[in-house]
Amino acid sequence: MNRITLLGATGSIGASTLDVVARHPERFGLYAVTASRSVEALVGICARFRPRVAVIADEARLASLSDALRVAGLPTVARAGSQALAEVACAPECDTVVAAIVGAAGLVPTIAAARAGKRVLLANKESIVCAGRLLIEAVRAGGGQLLPVDSEHSAIHQCLAGARLAERDVRRLILTASGGPFRTRSDFAGITPEEACAHPNWVMGRKISVDSATLMNKGLEVIEASWLFGFAAGRIEVVVHPQSVIHSMVEFVDGSVVAQLGTPDMRTPIAYALSYPERIDSGSATLDFTQLGALSFEAPDLRRFRCLALAFAALAGGTGRTATLNAANEIAVEAFLGGRLQFVDIARVIEETLNAVDADEPDSVEAVLDIDARARRVAMRCVERRAIATLNAVAS
Ligand code: NAD
Ligand code: MG
Repeated sequence: MNRITLLGATGSIGASTLDVVARHPERFGLYAVTASRSVEALVGICARFRPRVAVIADEARLASLSDALRVAGLPTVARAGSQALAEVACAPECDTVVAAIVGAAGLVPTIAAARAGKRVLLANKESIVCAGRLLIEAVRAGGGQLLPVDSEHSAIHQCLAGARLAERDVRRLILTASGGPFRTRSDFAGITPEEACAHPNWVMGRKISVDSATLMNKGLEVIEASWLFGFAAGRIEVVVHPQSVIHSMVEFVDGSVVAQLGTPDMRTPIAYALSYPERIDSGSATLDFTQLGALSFEAPDLRRFRCLALAFAALAGGTGRTATLNAANEIAVEAFLGGRLQFVDIARVIEETLNAVDADEPDSVEAVLDIDARARRVAMRCVERRAIATLNAVAS
């Protein structure tokens, strides 16, 4: 029995993971599940999957979690806070950790799991964007495994299967991008959070939905691919493929291009990573080629989608830059979702923050957290300045 700690159980990736786990009760059991604030959703998961431990990140909600578990007659132990999150990620009772928290908040438990030698299933791309080498080294030191859940990286992992000396044999990695909801929109003025979160092909959490709309998601994925597969930015390309059927490709030096295809369903890469190197049913639909129609491709427009260009530039500058980029993006996206920042200003806040924060290459998790905190403070000031400028413009 493979015992799983599912970090971020109440989210979109959490739900897809639970769906796959429920299809294979003989293979998988849950050791621990975690959530940020939603006690009710967490207790619902406990009632269905009966994990040993449930962790709520918000410590003020520990009593309400304990009470709800007791009232429901469940044996699950309630815990709370960041220390508990890290502890369930490295507990000896679990074999696999699904890192599905959103944002840099997932960094510490993800690193803890890696150091403890777990099989880490990485959905939380922000942690590899802001810690890069530190996460890779933690996996190596722990002797475990890091497997991607992001569909593009799962595709590349599958395309590389059986390839020897990947670095020498591979010409380039080609990440596909759907282009998001604004692929064909020329004027970005007045875009609302609802419009930005209405992704054409995938249903996801709100933060990654906005990232997909700005193409920052693809930028974060380029950085993620660089660390996961050991490729420099110059050998990673992005191509827009609106149908999201090809999830990514690898071109070898002999000119062969290997692609991975499937219906856009996160249960496929989750099942792949959970059972690797075996294959299990994920519940996803069969790809009907006769119904597909044309597959199309175009270059990303870096002028309209500035975030992608900023991410490529940050990658070239090192982890101090990518951690700054990530923190500024988290602040800008949160402000946009809260109605405090225009969609077009997301890239501006990130760029201003990158210009203002001077960050060396971090040599520890503490150093990453320090850069993250500094970048957040600068980004918040940028958001405030823009909010004041907008108010003044309205008043005059
Ligand atoms: P989501 O918002 O639906 O869920 C996030 C989860 O993290 C929830 O369980 C929430 O309670 C928890 N969480 C949020 N803030 C937290 C905090 N401060 N401390 C502890 N827990 C916290 O997000 P999602 O769409 O499931 O995405 C999760 C991660 O997976 C992100 O990094 C995202 O980029 C990545 N990812 C998502 C998809 C997708 O299809 N949704 C695809 C690829 C990668
Ligand atoms: Mg992806």
